[in-house]
Parts: sequence; C-alpha cells; structure tokens
Amino acid sequence: MEETISNIPEDKVFDLVVVGGGAAGLMAAGTAARDGRSVLLIEKMEKTARKVNITGKGRCNLTNMCPPEEFLGKVRANADFFAHSFKTFTPNATCHFFKKQGVKLEEEAGRRIFPKGGKAYEISDALRWWCSDHGVVVMLNTKVEQILTAAGRTYGVMYTNKRGFRRKAEGRAVLISTGGASYPATGSTGDGYRLASEVGHTIVPVRPSLVALRSDHPKMKDLIGLRLKNIRASLSVDGEEAASEFGEIEFSTRGIDGPVILRMSRAAVDAVIDEKKVEVALDLKPALNEDTLRARIARELEELDPQAFAIELLRKMLPRNLVYFVADSAGVHPKTYAAKLSGEDIGRLIAAMKRVVFPIVDYGPWEQAIVTAGGVSTDEVDPETLQSRVIKGLYFAGEVLDLDADTGGYNLQIAFSTGRLAAQMK
Ligand SMILES: Cc1cc2nc3c(=O)[nH]c(=O)nc-3n(C[C@H](O)[C@H](O)[C@H](O)COP(=O)(O)OP(=O)(O)OC[C@H]3O[C@@H](n4cnc5c(N)ncnc54)[C@H](O)[C@@H]3O)c2cc1C
Repeated sequence: MEETISNIPEDKVFDLVVVGGGAAGLMAAGTAARDGRSVLLIEKMEKTARKVNITGKGRCNLTNMCPPEEFLGKVRANADFFAHSFKTFTPNATCHFFKKQGVKLEEEAGRRIFPKGGKAYEISDALRWWCSDHGVVVMLNTKVEQILTAAGRTYGVMYTNKRGFRRKAEGRAVLISTGGASYPATGSTGDGYRLASEVGHTIVPVRPSLVALRSDHPKMKDLIGLRLKNIRASLSVDGEEAASEFGEIEFSTRGIDGPVILRMSRAAVDAVIDEKKVEVALDLKPALNEDTLRARIARELEELDPQAFAIELLRKMLPRNLVYFVADSAGVHPKTYAAKLSGEDIGRLIAAMKRVVFPIVDYGPWEQAIVTAGGVSTDEVDPETLQSRVIKGLYFAGEVLDLDADTGGYNLQIAFSTGRLAAQMK
C-alpha cells in the first residue's frame, strides 16, 4: 500500500517536506496533500508508523473523550500552548477522521477510544491510506540529516538515502515530526532535537516519562510478579507529598510499574535527576483507617484457630507475596501464635500495611519509557500555526515538541492535533 520512491528529480521543489512518518507526520502529510499541496514524507525506518503499531499494548488507545478541561489537565507540560492545536482538531474530530477511513471504534473505561477490531495496525494503515489517497510521495529507509536554511528561512533538507548517499530535497516548508527519544527501536531516536537545535532552537532537556521506577528496597526481588489493585500510592520528594494516586501497580523486573506509577513517574524522574530524596509509599488497605483495620484484625483473630500463627492472619488479609514482607517490616516473627500478638505487635502490623515505603533511586531507560518529557521549546514556536519563530517555513508537530501527557490516549491526540494544525501551513 505504501508507494515509495528512492530518489526525487533534482529540480523538484515540494510545498512541504515532512520529516518523520509517525502519528503526527502521517496526519500532517495527508492533510497538506488533501489541501492540494505537493508533499514529500521522509521516514528513516523501512516502514512508517512503527510506534503506532505497538501503542496500547498493540490495541492503540488513539484518543480520550473526557471533557476538554480534563483533557488539557492531563497534558503535563505547556497545556496552554497545546490548547490551540486541540481546538483545531479535537478527540471528536479524531474519531470522525478514523471512522471516515473505515475504522470502527469503541469506547472503554476511562473514556479511552480503541479500534473495535482491537488492532493498532488499523490506525497506522488508515494513516498510510490517507497519505497515499492524496498523493503524498514517501521515501522510506531515508534519514534526514540536516535542515537547510538561508536568510532565516528553510528551503529543504539533506538526507541520506538507503544506499548511503547524501542528497537534497527542496521544500517551501519543512515539518519536523521525528517523535521523541523513547522506544528507539521504532525509529524515534531523538534526531529532531539535533535538527532543531542546529538551526537555532532551544531544547528543553529530554528525560524518559511514563516509565517504571526503581527502588533499592532489599526485598524488591521477592515482589516481582505481584500486581496490586485498589491501593493508594503516594510520591514524596524531600519529605513533601508530591502526588497521590489510587489504582493498580505492578512489580516487575523493570521495577515498580503499572498505571499509578506511570502517572507519577514524570515528577519522580525529575526529582531523581535533581538528586532529591524520592520515596513511593503504598497504603495496602486504603479503604480502612487504622481503627477499622484494627477491628478487621480482631474479627479475623476470633475466627482463627487458637493454634494459628501470625502468618495465617496475614494470609487472610494480603496477597501471598506480601505476607512475609509485611511481617518482616513490622518486626513480627511469622511463627508467633496469632492469639499471642500484643497490642503493640498489631499496631506495627497495621503501620506496615498502611505505609510500605520504597526508596526510589532510579528509573527505567529510554527503551522502556512510553513518552519523552522535554523537547523543542514551545516558547520559540507559534501555538496558532506551529511555525518556528526562529526559522520561517519550519514547523513542528508531535512528541518532538516539549509536550507530553498521561497515559489514556492523550499523547496520540497531541500528535494528531498538532499534525493537523501544522499541515495548514499558516
Ligand atoms: C509502548 C508504547 C505504547 C504507547 N501507547 C500509547 C497509547 O495507547 N495511546 C497514546 O496516546 N500514546 C501512546 N504512546 C505514545 C505515542 O505512541 C507517541 O506519543 C506518538 O507516537 C508520538 O507521535 P509522533 O508522530 O510525534 O512520533 P513517532 O510516532 O515516534 O514518529 C516519529 C517518526 O519519525 C521518524 N524519524 C525520526 N528521526 C528521523 C529522521 N532523522 N529522518 C527521518 N525520519 C525520522 C521515526 O522513525 C518515526 O517513524 C505509546 C508509546 C509507546 C512507546
């Protein structure tokens, strides 16, 4: 379906050269071509939209239908800047767009939208068709090396073609949509930051976000495989609470993971980089306060065999991997007779269940981060057009900008909205 070329005629000047064929680049290229512009899309991988295909665990959570204020609240940097793009192309418009391309959609919990067929490739295929239907010229296996400028204006790019030769592609405008630096195997290796900074743009330092956190708690290994639902996690930085979230977490070889931790990871990563003291504290029984938890323990003790050990009491209240962990944290020997637990022992067990503290010393690498925080500074880009304020005719869209959001379909919507606005080439 993807019709591609390897070389372009030397005298050809495109209206728009799009650098990077991900969610933002494909949306922009097809839109500009539909509006009658000649468009060249250059993609360095052997196929476009590789990252889209792995989104939402292969199912692609393409947007979120929550109210606009709530949506913008999920954008963790420069939400005001993004608001202009968002207004131009809303989640409703995204759904309408994909439905028109023949993709059936459905809404799931948390107002998240997925293709009904459950396959992310329905979304990447729809974007590719959108481009080919409107005559976008696509070059694959081709890496853009440099943005060409003269007298404060861009006139194209230098690229290395698939045979390793450097060539020029001329364009009246250039769009950088090279994505972030996360999951580099998909092609998003942060090239756009260098391309933009070489022509004078400021790059807000990039760091992994929506990523697992690593603790040096001595018992971390014992918890691998544990998944906890309905717990409260609180993030503290230098002793001050920085975030508190309710939901699901997971312990894996990556560290402490799961939706709640991913949402907190942006603040935690920044604090670790700043060498602050970072801790995640888990409340394993958030629905019970200390008194109601004490009453629950008393009820469990009444029902227990008089010869039962403390460990059996904990088994009735906690997942398997946490039983010894909590006994140990509370300093209660697992083989103490439950009936002989003192008021103090019970107090320590309650404290251990209400607050399990994990010191955070590191975070997952780029290979595991869902998005990139930081990027091309939005101060130097016009939010109403996405044109550079530094180089005329240069535009930006997608994750290469200093825009990132929570999980839930918000990041792809950022790519679609900014791609759509940039394509207007105002
Ligand atoms: C595992 C995972 C799951 C995710 N799940 C979701 C989800 O369900 N919902 C959601 O909203 N978001 C999700 N995201 C985030 C979302 O995928 C990204 O935010 C989005 O793809 C960014 O779009 P983009 O077009 O800016 O960049 P990308 O999609 O990364 O595309 C950039 C493209 O530019 C190309 N490129 C880079 N440098 C060059 C160069 N020098 N020359 C030519 N081409 C170049 C790359 O090869 C790539 O194809 C997920 C991310 C990951 C990693």
